[in-house]
Amino acid sequence: MISSPIDEVKNRLDIVEVIGSYLKLQKAGANFRAVCPFHSEKKPSFFVSPARQIWHCFGCSKGGDIFGFVREIEGVEFGDALRILAQKAGVELKKQPPELRTERKLLYEICELATRFFEKQLEASSAGKEVKKYLLERGIKEESLKKWRIGYAPDTWQGLSDFLDSREYQKEEIKKAGLGLTSEKGSFYDRFRGRIIFPIFDLNSQVVGFTGRVFGKKREEKEIAKYVNTPQTLLYDKSRILYGLDKAKVAIRKSNFCILVEGNTDAIMVSQSGFENVVATSGTALTPFQIKILKRYSDNLLTAFDMDLAGDTATKRGIDLAQNQGFNVKIVTLEPGLDPADTILKNPKEWTEKIETAKSILDFYFGTAFSKFDKDKPEGKMEISKILLPVIKRIPNKIVQAHWSGELAKKLRVKEEDIEEELKKIKLGDYSEVYGIEPEEIKNLPPKSRRELLEERLVTLILKSPQNLNLIEKKYLTSFLPNIREVLIKLKKNQEPDSDFFNYLALKAEIEEIEEREIVPEIQYCLKELSSLEIKNKLDQISKDIKEAEEEKDLKKVGDLTQKFKDTTSELTSL
Ligand SMILES: [Zn+2]
Repeated sequence: MISSPIDEVKNRLDIVEVIGSYLKLQKAGANFRAVCPFHSEKKPSFFVSPARQIWHCFGCSKGGDIFGFVREIEGVEFGDALRILAQKAGVELKKQPPELRTERKLLYEICELATRFFEKQLEASSAGKEVKKYLLERGIKEESLKKWRIGYAPDTWQGLSDFLDSREYQKEEIKKAGLGLTSEKGSFYDRFRGRIIFPIFDLNSQVVGFTGRVFGKKREEKEIAKYVNTPQTLLYDKSRILYGLDKAKVAIRKSNFCILVEGNTDAIMVSQSGFENVVATSGTALTPFQIKILKRYSDNLLTAFDMDLAGDTATKRGIDLAQNQGFNVKIVTLEPGLDPADTILKNPKEWTEKIETAKSILDFYFGTAFSKFDKDKPEGKMEISKILLPVIKRIPNKIVQAHWSGELAKKLRVKEEDIEEELKKIKLGDYSEVYGIEPEEIKNLPPKSRRELLEERLVTLILKSPQNLNLIEKKYLTSFLPNIREVLIKLKKNQEPDSDFFNYLALKAEIEEIEEREIVPEIQYCLKELSSLEIKNKLDQISKDIKEAEEEKDLKKVGDLTQKFKDTTSELTSL
């Protein structure tokens, strides 16, 4: 029998590895657990079962197999999830059904072809060779050029679009990928011309966009932008992507810290210097979404920015937001005017030392504020506290916060109570307003009924200790919900059901913490509650029938039903 690509992908990939590439998983007995990425929670209720190859969150009730997970976390359709995972598994998808050829797929194809085109230009064209020479001189190694797929966009109007046209892509499609534009006069031209090209990758190392850095004669022209970026497309949203995260995520988790830099070249240079745990923000402030993604990998952030403390810069706001979200932030101090790439090129050893001696954000702010202003003059005290009070206020831990306010009081030679007083006055901006944090994009599942909950609990307890299966008498089986009934019938026949629903129950049983002696009473409780629910439903029905009979003025029927109601009520009380 020929297996489907879906089965093949499932066979080749391990769910723990796939989910582990997105989330920090902790071992929990035979399973793994994590803080759920799909709803906000502090205690992890997201579980992954390697034995069953499923995941389930007992907080928001989402769950499924690897395809479901990738769909949720990447926000893609099934066809895209299959493609992403097939690529991971090395499974070739032949003859794809047309419904899987989504617009996303089309744009991925165009971005990939464009990347190859730019790479080829760098290697083969005379201008490209010049660019390559320049990059090598700047310290980027040959292997890094390949790894980061750096290319060159020729200085022509339609180099790329002619190439894509020859591969039968439409102008409209090239535009949607962010690679082409139409002029006012209606002529079509390439967005990236005469530029060094840095492809931007998603978490699965697929190209979704580009940054083009000016090169050649153009460098001297003032009106030309130094950088050109892909605009927002279906694949690319600059507020959601961190440059280099696809290559850094494993290293970030291993080292448990992430180095944050500003430019593409910085990221590449830092990575090849041995710190592969580096990502770049591409010149924008860290967004709440990026912070959320980083949090999946580590809580420790080390920034190597040129920071202006007193100013209200985008960079500073991003760092403040990270601190506010509970990140341990450390700051690498570089020599004035040098970025990480310059520092490494000058002296790689010095760079390593700077990483190792990075200061905590509090030490950094204290050091800079006190060196900038005179702490003995009233105005100086004022300026220093203006910088430091908000930083102290943002410390989530109250004890740590008390430590730093004491430190500030000591250094300014003022009373600690006065600092406390001033701290109370500080209002931190509402970040959701400043950054436009979107409400969680969760399609909530309908809540389960009490009956569903009780029946699931019952089966979970039985799976926990199968010898108690006989507590459920055969005659009751028909009263269960169909999916539960199916599971129970199989179990009675000593078979293990093969369904997603059963796998979910089995995982639930595995992680259920209950003492052996509590199981039987708990099962009896569930059975009793279920019977009482059933009787109550019966009573509801009889009441309705009585009302109907009254309307029909069928007195005999009313009498019978009233008796039935009484009998059923006594059934309930005798439970
Ligand atoms: Zn959840």
